[in-house]
Amino acid sequence: MRTPAGTECKYFYGDYFRGRSLEECRLLKATGQQWSPDLCKTCPAPGIQRANACEFLSMRATVERPLTAVFQRRVQLKAYCDKSNKPVTEPHIGCGECHPLPPIFDVKP
Ligand code: SF4
Repeated sequence: MRTPAGTECKYFYGDYFRGRSLEECRLLKATGQQWSPDLCKTCPAPGIQRANACEFLSMRATVERPLTAVFQRRVQLKAYCDKSNKPVTEPHIGCGECHPLPPIFDVKP
């Protein structure tokens, strides 16, 4: 579903049927975090979903206020692979368990 920021995100839910205007982020709701539409502008989740469609990638989101963005709340994500049972440091790429790089990218000693 399209977020208020205009990007597609599978965690966004909007119900506008018959005058309703319910909007929520189900990723933040799962961790009990407060969502507001401005968070979608800087959230990394839509970019990760476009880059990596791995079904085993799960994300945990928190809302934080980094010092570099004074008084601006931002979504911080931690990714985890449910198949290899390890944290994913680069969620745009994945953990490498299911989709290893082709041998042409191997560096020979
Ligand atoms: S805050 Fe991020 S994860 Fe939540 S609906 Fe917006 S873009 Fe999606």
